[in-house]
Amino acid sequence: MSQIYLLFPPSWTLTTGSAHLALPLLKGFLESKGVPTRTHDLNLEFANRLVARLPVATLQSACSEGSLEGMNKPYFQAEDEINRVTIGFDGEWNAQLGFSFSRFSHHSSRQVFESLDAESPFHQYFDERVIPELERENSRIVGICLASLYQLIPTFQLCKRLRQTGYEGFIVLGGNTVSRLLREMSIPPVFDLIDGLIPFQGEMPMHELYRVLREGGDFADVPSLIWRDNDGTIRQNTNHSEFILDEAAAPDYSDLPVGKYWGVNYLNVISARGCYWGKCNFCAIPYGWGENGFAGQRSAQRTYEDIVTLMERHSIRRFKFVDETLSPHFMRAFSKLIIDNDLKIEWEGYTRLERDWCDASFVDLVSKAGFRKGWFGLECLPSDKRVHLNKNDAADPLRLLELCSAANIKVHFFCLFGYPGTGKDEAENTVEFLLRNRDLIDTVDIFPWTYAKHTKVTGVERIERPGEDWALEYAHASLRADTLNSEEIAELASYWEEVVWAKAPRLLHPSYRMISPWSIE
Ligand code: SF4
Repeated sequence: MSQIYLLFPPSWTLTTGSAHLALPLLKGFLESKGVPTRTHDLNLEFANRLVARLPVATLQSACSEGSLEGMNKPYFQAEDEINRVTIGFDGEWNAQLGFSFSRFSHHSSRQVFESLDAESPFHQYFDERVIPELERENSRIVGICLASLYQLIPTFQLCKRLRQTGYEGFIVLGGNTVSRLLREMSIPPVFDLIDGLIPFQGEMPMHELYRVLREGGDFADVPSLIWRDNDGTIRQNTNHSEFILDEAAAPDYSDLPVGKYWGVNYLNVISARGCYWGKCNFCAIPYGWGENGFAGQRSAQRTYEDIVTLMERHSIRRFKFVDETLSPHFMRAFSKLIIDNDLKIEWEGYTRLERDWCDASFVDLVSKAGFRKGWFGLECLPSDKRVHLNKNDAADPLRLLELCSAANIKVHFFCLFGYPGTGKDEAENTVEFLLRNRDLIDTVDIFPWTYAKHTKVTGVERIERPGEDWALEYAHASLRADTLNSEEIAELASYWEEVVWAKAPRLLHPSYRMISPWSIE
């Protein structure tokens, strides 16, 4: 019997080879403190009721020719199969994002609450499978991780039904979406359905919350907790706890269906929480990690031990670091441990275009340690306009591609078009570069710049749509002649994305991403 039951709600991406890391991190920590904890991935389980998982062999054969039609086939067959069921609920399922209702926007708290009793693809699943399971367990705490806005409506639909069945335990929401919308979610209608919100790192707050519920005590003592007191006042506690990352246990995936996700399966791991740079002008990522945008670094030694533990538990040798940016310093130290201990693994991760990526000895070292793919923020081809982005990197993409190609490391470039100070020329030059070097590039993303919540950008005016209080991005109007407005940027990015789709579809295709970059069986 678990004391804490952690749920990952439906309506997240299906094109991933691993469970989201949040629940395994919490379970690992809480169990190491003696708190029986269960985790349950509702996203995959719900999808499994509608469609069979996309197997590796099908994806490999679909991608073997590299044609758009070939890669489209299995992907859209699977997506269509889900939509055949969910279409009756007036919405659409995107396999990379989740389900969106046509009539209700998850950008609006009012519409989220209006949706709670509407017809939903999730109600039957919640009533037949999830709520009976929660009733059986009757855990003191039900914790729900909101990694994406798409999970908001199903989460509140579940909470309402759970309350209606008489569950009297403590329901708490956490995850990246809660961290980013903390102020906007701290409202009475939310607290009519749930009992608490926990932003940022959940380990210490969850442990203390459990102690208070078990031993009696004051919710005011639970670090970071947002809760409603007996007078109906919503209170926000400060974070007075110290969380030392090296003292945490390894992530615990033992309740989750490891090996049963779409495509080639791997395990998510993490060393640093946040981005050590954290100052790119367009980027809201650091905000999701804590007040200062960075919540600490686990040592290379402890991260190495996590990998060994997970290999032994699950016989899996592929790992994805979900750190926002792996630092070269960490990669060097971690690689040396892998090589010295002759560990045969493959790993990939997000990293910045630091000077080290132009150093053949660094690239060779991480390659020897099994690093198979780097996900880099190129944004635009380097020019004197790069300064507007405040990347503060040492981007030399051609040198990077040549060194990585020679070292058997694949490269992904994130591209961002239309940030104020950059425009049509930068977009065109970047796409020309991508296409010219398509044989050296594994995958790319092309995003239009949108004004992200928690960023401050000059030269444009942010437009907040009435009622969209839970939006994380905004439209904008241009205030300068050299700056594009939202519609122009969307058009620009879409135009160049179409060019890439037409000439090099592998670079963008989700089918290919479900098998790359792995080679270890
Ligand atoms: S874009 Fe990348 S490097 Fe820049 S702040 Fe965001 S996460 Fe950090």
